[in-house]
Amino acid sequence: MIRIGQSNDTHRLEEGYKLIIGAVSIPHYKGSVGHSDGDCLLHTVCESLIGALSLGDLGKLFPDTSVKFKGIESSLLVKKVMSEVKNKGYRVLNIDSTIFLERPKLQEYIMEMRQNIAVLLEIELEFVSVKATTGEGIGIVGKEEAIVTESVVLVTND
Ligand SMILES: [Zn+2]
Repeated sequence: MIRIGQSNDTHRLEEGYKLIIGAVSIPHYKGSVGHSDGDCLLHTVCESLIGALSLGDLGKLFPDTSVKFKGIESSLLVKKVMSEVKNKGYRVLNIDSTIFLERPKLQEYIMEMRQNIAVLLEIELEFVSVKATTGEGIGIVGKEEAIVTESVVLVTND
């Protein structure tokens, strides 16, 4: 069986926080506010997988997210979700993600993000897509108030 999952995540951008996207630390005057390391992209990687297998959401899978997982690297959350995926006999076929961020330009970081996600999901690079777009100067993205990410994933138990 093939199953699909999707996820959308938003984090506030503020000065004094790190900007970590897809496990890549990006120099910028503003960073992503949130639980763990604020890695908005890896959060949608996690929650799209959780959605594909109807596991609830991150909070349901890890009830103590607010305490135990505060400050945790999001890549560790992905690993935990992947162990659930494998426990259920599934593997990832491909994933397609989009990052909505006004600044900085992300082009030079995209390959490293794809490589990080490929390793975490145990698939080849060609099956990992990461795209970046801006908010055209309007809305929460365009005004640099937030980073938004979306992911869609396919898993199979064949
Ligand atoms: Zn998040």
